[in-house]
Amino acid sequence: MRRPYHRPEASGPASARAAPAGPAAMTAGLGAALAGLAVALAGLLAAPSADAAELPIFDAHVHYSHDAWATLPPKEAVALLRRAGLKRVMVSSSSDEGTQKLFAEAPDLIVPSLRPYRTRNEIGTWVRDASVIPHLESRLASHRYVAIGEFHVYGADADLPVMRRVVALARQHGLLLHLHGDVDAVERVFGQDPGARILWAHAGFASPPEVRATLRRHPMLWADLAFRSDPASDGRVAAEWRETFTEFPNRFMLGTDTFSPERWWYVPEHAAWARRWLADLPAPLAEGIAWRNAEAMLAARRPPIAP
Ligand SMILES: [Zn+2]
Repeated sequence: MRRPYHRPEASGPASARAAPAGPAAMTAGLGAALAGLAVALAGLLAAPSADAAELPIFDAHVHYSHDAWATLPPKEAVALLRRAGLKRVMVSSSSDEGTQKLFAEAPDLIVPSLRPYRTRNEIGTWVRDASVIPHLESRLASHRYVAIGEFHVYGADADLPVMRRVVALARQHGLLLHLHGDVDAVERVFGQDPGARILWAHAGFASPPEVRATLRRHPMLWADLAFRSDPASDGRVAAEWRETFTEFPNRFMLGTDTFSPERWWYVPEHAAWARRWLADLPAPLAEGIAWRNAEAMLAARRPPIAP
């Protein structure tokens, strides 16, 4: 069945077809990309706004880090998000200042998450850096968030003292954890706090059977599909993913993952691409993945522990 938001002319974004990129790729080619970004954004901002009939989208995985805000001021960034037809956007940034700039510009649109990184260079070192904790504590004391993350953690590192403290802070403040890592890390966090709420970034880049098995074990685990090309191609949802979405209609959500400034190009394109494959699913399932599941996840947060 075709719905009004189905856009047959939309093609899969180049970003979504690419293989998942690791932290090393995040800084590659940045200079050249920045120059192109300004040109491309001028075009995007001039593009017609999203059709009112389009499916609204909650984008659960956006970053607005120091090099992005230098290129794309908050007002223009918000205009870009609105033109993509995004209803709400969960943002975390290196440093958190980027998130606060966007939130100040559009508190109705931006859902702030506290990233532990002060610069993007901390992706691989933060979990052994005790100075991260006072940084998080001071931000938590002065700003409001729905989550801590996105942070990167794998395997036994999830049981290191810094990560344990992050899990405890999330519990204390009633926050989600936006975790980019493997199944082992997810299990270790739930081992520390069985009542934790985790948004599993990129569904761990795990296979659909592995994702399903992990979701079965943890009712308070959600997954974003950011930077994955495998759920659909040419507007058709892959069979394994259709089964996965059908088994867990309430746990998946979308994300663009603007991990580098040039990724902001893809926000409208990614939204159009996602609407196209969502149209291949029954409407309630499509709406769940598009925005309802993310809202329900926010509503399922635990209350903060009274001091
Ligand atoms: Zn990310």
